[in-house]
Amino acid sequence: MKRRQEIGAIAFARGFQQRAYSQEDLWFPNFRYCCDANEKVSLRDFPAKEKVLWETFAGVDLSSDRRPGTVIYLLSVRPDRKFVPRVIRAGKWTAPETIAQMEEVDQVHRPRIWRVENNAYQQSLIDISQSLGEGGLKLPDGRVVNVSFASRLLAFTTGAQKADPMRGLPAMDVEFANVGWAIPMRDREGHPEACSCGFCRWLREMERYPHLTDDTVMACYFAWDTALTYSKYLQAPVVQERRELSREEPEPEGILERMFR
Ligand SMILES: [Zn+2]
Repeated sequence: MKRRQEIGAIAFARGFQQRAYSQEDLWFPNFRYCCDANEKVSLRDFPAKEKVLWETFAGVDLSSDRRPGTVIYLLSVRPDRKFVPRVIRAGKWTAPETIAQMEEVDQVHRPRIWRVENNAYQQSLIDISQSLGEGGLKLPDGRVVNVSFASRLLAFTTGAQKADPMRGLPAMDVEFANVGWAIPMRDREGHPEACSCGFCRWLREMERYPHLTDDTVMACYFAWDTALTYSKYLQAPVVQERRELSREEPEPEGILERMFR
């Protein structure tokens, strides 16, 4: 520990923990405040009453030439204005498979709006979905799926707003500082350290952003931005004053590792 003080925390993180980042580099240092081990609602077993009362919005980060994974992220807004992750699915799907996954999730959770990133390549999925309307889509394996969400599907054009302090990823961290999200950590019970399920991937990618992959972060961001735009519960301004982290905060070892030790 003495040696650690001498060389400073950042050098310690880089040199001794084999980690090329520190607390100062992280975009979501306040994420931990929303990871609640006592949150009653579980993503696995969502109560029927809440299903009706809570508003749900969906973001989809599609694969591209540069990145093979697609992520579907459903985010709910509770009447107390807290955000709660609802469904996080990740997979390497073709366009028809992605539409089938979206339809399956839609049947259960009925998000008010689906928002899909639309770069030129990705516009095709939006076109396919909307041209099919309420009709069916034939999958390569012969199955036919309905596309009942087509009329609720909107494009999300990514650009400068991702870094916008009032509406981009930095604004999400302000919400974390204000404990504006309720993340049910009991859902992680029994999952292995390097679990590849959507929820665990999202926790890891948020905690370490921008140092790992960001598929779940982007899908989450699309869902969150959509909720800010369309939620009845969020009429008043959401972004508040940023709370400074205390100097007494522990070292930036993994939030999740610490939580489940
Ligand atoms: Zn998991």
